[in-house]
Amino acid sequence: MKIDTYRITDGDSFSIRKFPTKDDGGLERYGEADLALEKNIEELARLQDMLYAHNQYGILLVLQAMDAAGKDGAIKHVMRGLNPQGVQVKPFKVPSAEETDHDYLWRCQPHLPARGNIAIFNRSYYEDVLVVKVHQLLEEQNLPDQLISPKVWKERYRQLRDYERYLTENGIVVVKIFLHVSKKKQEKRLLERIDNPDKNWKFSGGDVHERKYWEQYMDAYEEMIRGTATKDAPWHIVPADRKWFSRLLVSEILVKTLKNLPLAYPELDPETKSSLAEYRQMLVDEPSDRS
Ligand code: ADP
Repeated sequence: MKIDTYRITDGDSFSIRKFPTKDDGGLERYGEADLALEKNIEELARLQDMLYAHNQYGILLVLQAMDAAGKDGAIKHVMRGLNPQGVQVKPFKVPSAEETDHDYLWRCQPHLPARGNIAIFNRSYYEDVLVVKVHQLLEEQNLPDQLISPKVWKERYRQLRDYERYLTENGIVVVKIFLHVSKKKQEKRLLERIDNPDKNWKFSGGDVHERKYWEQYMDAYEEMIRGTATKDAPWHIVPADRKWFSRLLVSEILVKTLKNLPLAYPELDPETKSSLAEYRQMLVDEPSDRS
C-alpha cells in the first residue's frame, strides 16, 4: 500500500480542501483491508519488540483531528497488539492554570517517549496553533503583551519545526497524523453519539458549537501543515470518513516508519556470549527442586 500520496514533506502548496476525506485506497473493506490491518498489527508487535530491545530510538506519534474523526478508535484498534510496557498514551486537554503559567511546550516534555518506547499524543502542542488561533486564546496564555501580534503563528510554526528537528536529531522519530474527516461525516457520528445510549458518554455539546468554526479550523489546519511539514517530520493526511481505511493507513504509516529504522536486537557482550554454554550447563545441572 502506498503511503506517499498521503504524506506531506513540504507544505508550500498544500491545500486541505483538495485532500479527500473519503478515500478507500481502492481496497475492499472485508477481506483485503481487514486482513492487511491484522498483518500490520502483528508486524507492529514484532517491530516494537525490536525497538524496545534496541533501546536507541523513541517514536512520537502525534494525532490531530477534528472531533469524532476517530483518534480514540485508531489508538484502540491499531495499537492493540503492542506491549503496554513500551507504549504511553497522553491526551492533551484544555491547559490547567499551572500549564498556562508556562510556555506551551512545557507540558509536553515529560511525556516524550523514552528510548525504545512509543508515545502517542492524543492532540498535542499543535492545539496551540489550532484552537488557540481559532478562538484567539493567546491572551489566556499569559504571554507578555509585547509578544502578542499576528506574527505569533508563523513564529510558532518555526518553533515547532525547530523543536521537531531537535527531537529528530536526538533519536526521537516524529510521526504526525491528521485524521481528515468531512463535516458531513462528523455530523453523522455526533448524531450517533446522541442516538445510541452506549455512545452518549462521548457526546459533548461543545462539539456541536465547534462546528460553527469549521472553516476557520480548516484554515488553521492548512496553515499549520504548510508551516510545519518537513522532510524529517512530515504530516500524513489520513482520509477519515471510513474508519476501517483510516485505521489501516495509520497502521501502515507506523509499520513503514519502524521498518525504515536500523533496528536490531542487541548482541550479548562477548564474555557472556562465550559463557552461554557454561551457564546452560549450570542450569541443567541444578539439583531438582523437591518442593
Ligand atoms: P478529545 O476531543 O480529544 O477526545 P476532549 O473532548 O476532552 O478530548 O477535548 C479536549 C479539548 O481540549 C479540545 O476541545 C481541545 O481543543 C482542547 N485543548 C487542547 N489543548 C488546548 C490548548 N492548548 N488550549 C486550549 N484548548 C486546548
